Amino acid sequence: MKLIDFYKNYPDEESCKQAFKEYREQEGVICKKCGNKTHYWKKNREQWECKKCSHRTTLKSGTVMHGSQLSFQYWFIAMHLMTSTKKTFSAKELQRQLGHKRYEPIWAMLHKLRIVMGRRDEQYMLNNEVELDEGFFETVSVTRDKSEPLKRGKGSQRQTTVLVATESKPVEDSEKSKKYSKKKQVRFIKMQTIHSLKKEDMEDAVTDIIEKNSIIISDDSNSYNNLTKHYEHNGQVVSKNKINEVLPWVHTAISNAKRLFLDVHHRIDDDFLQSYLNEFCFKFNRRYFDNLFDRLMIAAVSYRWNWLGEKNG
Ligand SMILES: [Zn+2]
Repeated sequence: MKLIDFYKNYPDEESCKQAFKEYREQEGVICKKCGNKTHYWKKNREQWECKKCSHRTTLKSGTVMHGSQLSFQYWFIAMHLMTSTKKTFSAKELQRQLGHKRYEPIWAMLHKLRIVMGRRDEQYMLNNEVELDEGFFETVSVTRDKSEPLKRGKGSQRQTTVLVATESKPVEDSEKSKKYSKKKQVRFIKMQTIHSLKKEDMEDAVTDIIEKNSIIISDDSNSYNNLTKHYEHNGQVVSKNKINEVLPWVHTAISNAKRLFLDVHHRIDDDFLQSYLNEFCFKFNRRYFDNLFDRLMIAAVSYRWNWLGEKNG
């Protein structure tokens, strides 16, 4: 959505509130108490009332906005910016643009939207041919025990390991392949922080994101030793100059994400890296969609925020 259309559609708090109500009704309001899906709209209270048990549901409850004091308009602006900019922006920048006094609620708003993006992508798994590798992202850890000496390289406390998988396949058409700089085309990607490279943990992490019986291409790391149980696994020694041929898309994804985070967020706390990865993947996976705002809004209203641990069903 273009900026001019955004302001035409959502010029003020009232229009955002009304649109939010419509998005929720379109997705279906569910009574938290009895699970019933039919409600009366109580206009004067701005609440739904369950037709079965009379339990009331406010506009924000159970959605990404659950418990938020921020205006609907703030949320709409944040969602518009997140889905219309190719890159991303910091909470500090949004706080400045909104002229809001406090940083924390703005940060929390963006963080929650990124969680919703992650939950939405969790509903899909990669399949067919998948490139797999790990990326090491620079992070800081506020919870780290400072008396513990810093390690260097792999396993360093200043890095977080991210499992990166890209569904990509060779470009078969030779005419087409001339147009692409890479010999493979990519569809979807996934990035997941991991805290162990043991083969059993790796097996769990990979089977969470890649469908069984897919073909996995990776380097010959011992961490991948259990993958042959579930996949056709092609683990090979990959020299530096062959990376672009064998694992082109995982490496492009890793370096693009690293560059973006360094530009925008500077220092990322280890605990929140996943949230930034969620946004990166959500946008990458929907790069050809023209109504990303809509997609995010639908995910945001249907995510059962207060029903702990429960995903959209
Ligand atoms: Zn009810």
